Amino acid sequence: MSFASETKTELLQASQAQAVCCAEAQLYGSLLFGHTFSAGEISLRTENRAYAEALCEQLHTMALVNTQFTQTGRKWGLAIPRAEDRLRVLQRFGHGPGDLNLRIAEENFNCESCRRAFLRGVFLSCAVVSAPERHYHLEFCVGYKKLALALAALLEALELPTKLCQRRGVWLAYYKDSAQMEDVLTTLGAQHAVLELIHIKIEKDMRNNVNRQVNFELANMGRVSGAAAAQLLAIKKLRACGALAALPAPLQEAARLREENPDVSLRELCDLAAAPTTRSGMNHRLKKLEALAGEGPEIESE
Ligand SMILES: [Zn+2]
Repeated sequence: MSFASETKTELLQASQAQAVCCAEAQLYGSLLFGHTFSAGEISLRTENRAYAEALCEQLHTMALVNTQFTQTGRKWGLAIPRAEDRLRVLQRFGHGPGDLNLRIAEENFNCESCRRAFLRGVFLSCAVVSAPERHYHLEFCVGYKKLALALAALLEALELPTKLCQRRGVWLAYYKDSAQMEDVLTTLGAQHAVLELIHIKIEKDMRNNVNRQVNFELANMGRVSGAAAAQLLAIKKLRACGALAALPAPLQEAARLREENPDVSLRELCDLAAAPTTRSGMNHRLKKLEALAGEGPEIESE
């Protein structure tokens, strides 16, 4: 399941145990931001069958409205076929038959949680969330500018300030920052989605840091052998954790010589040492440094 459909499924489950006023506010959000909400037509389309079914059931129990349930490809459609039923629904939510219905009727919000429930309905009907592994993007797609402005004002009131733009005749209230997305999903009550988002963010950051570190090391070690590169990393690690200065003098000398001469052979390092040293003796010290670094704490990445 995609991140988007997982989030919507979570919200559907979360909305099962809410107060009657909030359930109605959520239904209102779903219908107002569905496909059409007018005396001539009330309809919406969704890829989530459970959502469409839940709406049908809710409309039926709430206002004794008959709904029409259709399937077209991967989309589920919901409509209210009878004119008098549509009128009853409009009136129930404070809209008249002549309205263009490009406003949010605030009188539908009774308790403190009603706005959030309404937004949940809006999200289920018209939000698009991209897979956060690629990039962060959450948008509400609205057919009318006036309605999009009304939604932006509501989001502002919920401390979720958004940006508006127009794309191919549709108005978008969007977020493209992971922290903002977390705020929106928290407000909606999608705790699992928020955790998932944080998890993905940490993994992404870690991958970026490791890549940066490796690139940095490779750039610095472009001309040294694999063995010398490993020794240099070990020395860096020992210094970072403060262990280098506490080592016996011959080991410190080997470390210093290697750092000062990253691209010379073992034989040349021996020649540079203060006291006569054999090739195997120098090799032993460098290996010792690597072994110590392997046991030491991990070097901190930037
Ligand atoms: Zn409520």
